[in-house]
Order: sequence, then structure tokens, then C-alpha cells
Amino acid sequence: MEKKNLDWANLGFGYIQTEKRYVSNYKNGAWDDGAITEDANIVLNECAGVFQYAQTVFEGLKAYTTEDGHIVCFRPDLNASRLADSARRLEMPVFPEDRFIDAIQQVVEANAAYVPPYGSGATLYLRPYMMGTNPVIGVKPADEYQFRVFATPVGPYFKGGAKPITICVSDFDRAAPHGTGHIKAGLNYAMSLHAIMTAHRNGFDENMYLDPATRTKIEETGGANFIFITKDNKLVTPKSDSILPSITRRSIMYVAEHYLGMTVEHREVEFSELKDFAEAGLCGTAAVISPVGKIVNHGEEILIPSGMEEMGPTTKKLYDTLTGIQMGRIEAPEGWIKKIL
Ligand SMILES: *Cc1c(COP(=O)(O)O)cnc(C)c1O
Repeated sequence: MEKKNLDWANLGFGYIQTEKRYVSNYKNGAWDDGAITEDANIVLNECAGVFQYAQTVFEGLKAYTTEDGHIVCFRPDLNASRLADSARRLEMPVFPEDRFIDAIQQVVEANAAYVPPYGSGATLYLRPYMMGTNPVIGVKPADEYQFRVFATPVGPYFKGGAKPITICVSDFDRAAPHGTGHIKAGLNYAMSLHAIMTAHRNGFDENMYLDPATRTKIEETGGANFIFITKDNKLVTPKSDSILPSITRRSIMYVAEHYLGMTVEHREVEFSELKDFAEAGLCGTAAVISPVGKIVNHGEEILIPSGMEEMGPTTKKLYDTLTGIQMGRIEAPEGWIKKIL
């Protein structure tokens, strides 16, 4: 298979349209067979449920070229089950989890020429999503839905290495108690845009959201979970019902315990503990881990001891081990790597 002639090492994190995507439609209570199509556009009625009441959920995962030249995906079964959880919460029909994996397989195969070569730092980003498609004007779930998966090659998230970022404690909340913070829905992102733009205008890279009920505990950022390393080298990561269960974070917890022999604590994390941590980072599919060097809480600066120059040493070990597993340099736990080609 001939690779596309793209400047892999200089790709950004943006949308590059490829030829093939997967589509399946839900009507009269059933999903159709689904197929690969070349049409990148969706034509919907003006009153479609997705436009009126934001009935849409999504996922994000990547396909990688491994050191030995295979194309693989990382734990797509967890994306399948999380999309099912998201769909149930928005009263949408579940796209069967085995069919989700099959759709990923078909899209990656159809776009194999766009999977960046090993060592380029780039990957093929996959975006599965579903939406309510038929007209809905009274507030109720749609009866018809579309499930899609498209692919877009994305560059290394950090060009020239991961520099620690500065984040601020947001005055906005990302998720309500007993709300939708734990599902991957566009609605959580729509309402975060004002908060992130406000943070950017004030000179910060990202927001730290606190628990909305008491504003004393650390939750997450707009699109990534937190990990912290204590001075005695434990991994601490916040637990709350309104945090999105990041697959990267769950994988890092496993890697910390089983590959690096660390103690892992998944628990509520008080904001007041922040000053005691040795390292801090954000984790998610896009960047894997972004180190955090400084947190600003209404003018009060909390400096993380690992500093503003580079990733802390334990964060780096976690990053190297997890990316090593994803790229096939380090043996993966059973079931983590789905070989596509
Ligand atoms: C997608 C997402 C993450 C990261 O999840 P991964 O499965 O690791 O990509 C974290 N927080 C939010 C709010 C998200 O939407």
C-alpha cells in the first residue's frame, strides 16, 4: 500500500479530509448494515434532533504504525463501551460494541494510506460519533440516528517536546453534580468554549475545573484528566462521578502499578493538596500526557517542583512506557492492542 505524500512530521492537530468513512443509520428500531462511503457531508432536515437539542455523543481514538510495521488501535473496546454509556445517558440507541470495533477496523483499513509511518510522531485520529437525525421540535429523543466514523491524520501533539503548561482555576463549572460530566457528549464541550477562551485571553493554556458542589476538590480540564505524582512517588488521580473516565488515565494507572511498581491512588483530591505534589500532568488520547508546571488560582501561583522546562521524571517514565506499548516497543497487557493490518 502506497502512503499518501504528506509532510507527516509537520502535521498539526487539525482536520484533513480523507476519502473513506463509515456510516450506519438507525430507523424503525434497528441499525442498518452500515458501509464505507466517500461522502464526507451529511444532509439533514433543519429540525433534526442534533441541531435542536444537541443529541450527539462522540469518541476519539488513534491508529498507530508499530515498530514492526503493523497498524494497530489502542483499546478500542473501551471506546465502544464508553460510547454505549454516553448514548444511554442521552436516550440514544446503543451502536453494538462488536460492530463499533468492526467499523473502526473498516475505516482504518480503508484509510491505511493515511496512517502515518512509524517514528513520524503522527497518528491517524479516529472520530466515531452519533447524532439524532429526524425532525424533533417538542423536547424528546429522536427516533432516527446516524453513527459515523471518520479518520484524519494528526501530527505529534507537541512539536519539539512537551513543555509544561500553565493552567488556571476556572470560575466556570464543566459539569454539574449528577449531570453529564462522565459521558463524552458535545454538549459538555459547547459550554466549555467560553471558559477555555476566557482562560486563553487571560494568558493560560487550560482550565482546572473544581468539583461544582463544593469547589474544594480537583476534577479535570475541558478534555483531559489529571495525574499527580507525590514526593514519595505515588500516582494520585482524582475520582468523581462528574469526571470523564479517560482511557489514557486508566491505562496510566495500570502502567504505574504493573510496569513501574508504583502505588496508585484513585480518590478525591483536595485542591489544598496541590502544593504538596512533585509532578502534575494532563492525560488524554490527543497528547497522551501534557506536563503541568504551574497552576494559578486567582492570582495565587502554585509552582509544581518539576518546573517549567520539562516533564517530571516519573511523568516521563509513564509517558515513555505507555507510548512504548502503543507503538509496539514494549509488550502490552493482554487485549490492549487491536491489530488492524
Ligand atoms: C475524551 C476526554 C478525556 C480523555 O479521555 P481519553 O479516553 O483518555 O482520550 C478526558 N476528559 C474529557 C472531558 C474528555 O472528553
